[in-house]
Amino acid sequence: MGYGVSNLNGFALGPFQNWEKRIYPLILSLSKDASKPEMVRQAHHERVTVDFGRAQALHLDRFIRTTSDAAFRCLSPLPCVKLDRMEVIFDRGVYLLELDLWLDSLRKREFGLISHAHSDHTARHLSPVLTPNTRLLLGDYLKRSEPITLEYGEPLDRGDYTLTLFPAGHCLGSAQALITNKWSGERLLYTGDFKSRPSPINEPLLPVDCDTLVIESTYGRPEYVFPPEDQVLDTACRTLEMWLSKGERPVVQGWRLGKAQEIMHHLMSAGFELVVEESIFEVAEAYQEAGVAFPGDFHCLNGHWAEGQVLVCPPGFRKAKELNLALGKRYMELTGWASGKGGRRWGRRGDASLAYSDHADFNDLVDYVKRVGPSQVYTVNGFPDLAAHLRKLGYPAVHLDGKKGRRDDGGFQMKLV
Ligand SMILES: [Zn+2]
Repeated sequence: MGYGVSNLNGFALGPFQNWEKRIYPLILSLSKDASKPEMVRQAHHERVTVDFGRAQALHLDRFIRTTSDAAFRCLSPLPCVKLDRMEVIFDRGVYLLELDLWLDSLRKREFGLISHAHSDHTARHLSPVLTPNTRLLLGDYLKRSEPITLEYGEPLDRGDYTLTLFPAGHCLGSAQALITNKWSGERLLYTGDFKSRPSPINEPLLPVDCDTLVIESTYGRPEYVFPPEDQVLDTACRTLEMWLSKGERPVVQGWRLGKAQEIMHHLMSAGFELVVEESIFEVAEAYQEAGVAFPGDFHCLNGHWAEGQVLVCPPGFRKAKELNLALGKRYMELTGWASGKGGRRWGRRGDASLAYSDHADFNDLVDYVKRVGPSQVYTVNGFPDLAAHLRKLGYPAVHLDGKKGRRDDGGFQMKLV
């Protein structure tokens, strides 16, 4: 595993024909170091960038300075550039300093990524870049903006870098962003919120290899490990059946965008008759517009909640007047916080609290880091414990946090602006 610039040097090689055939074998033949240089990452029109070990760099440098081989004269003097990793800053959003690129900024920017349609990742940027389904789910929110919609896998050329979106599996349209620096070849992957367990209604997560990983850590603490989803859903269905058989009125709580529609799909597949709160109904209609098929009918609440129907609503709806009049209510909350030791204010307020989430749990987060193979990791939007755990596994990992001065993790803070 590489450790950032401490053991990697980069050379930017000027215009040179057949560089793959000449330069790369040269590096291999000159090096006494048994390790192979990292493959060339980026072929730009005029420059080619190669990352390789320090010993190889020194050999190549000496060779270029002393060779009489005419084929290499065009490289002399060799422009030697030390390639630092992209600096990552967190300030109510992730900022890549040298590319002047904002990812999920909560402040309005000229240009920036919106990874998905949840409000804790959005702002009314002048030119936000997002997937077509995220744009659909945001509706009028961006009516004064000029959004740039990108299909998954379609690169956007931004001069010094390209930006490509890949499915994140968190909700419909959710995207990870791969940013490739054209000059250094560095590949930075920003996950946004993601879920690796398959969902019946989202585009499935696609792991993307990278050099630098910026990963969410919502459930980045070892206590947050969720049971298998089919087991949780089975328990949920049996509990709801029991409540219904006793003439009680089941209320299932889940966030209005993404989680609620997943729950709806699962409950319909199990044969429950559903009535859903209005905002959830509207989002479900947008999902249908995007081509998602639900296995049955569902009704908008509109004040009418028939006996035998399960109500799906957001957590905040609990105090709504529509619910006040209904007797015999039983609440079920499906939330990742139910898997922890308690104490989180969102968890365990239902008659049944089951661990089900639209995020990765702790083990899923660690597995994802191993899967995409970064040599530098930044964790954001959650617990710092994940970074501490990754450091124990040998990954250089830093937790970026907007909460100034918090040092309760044994980790450390990056520069905050
Ligand atoms: Zn989210």
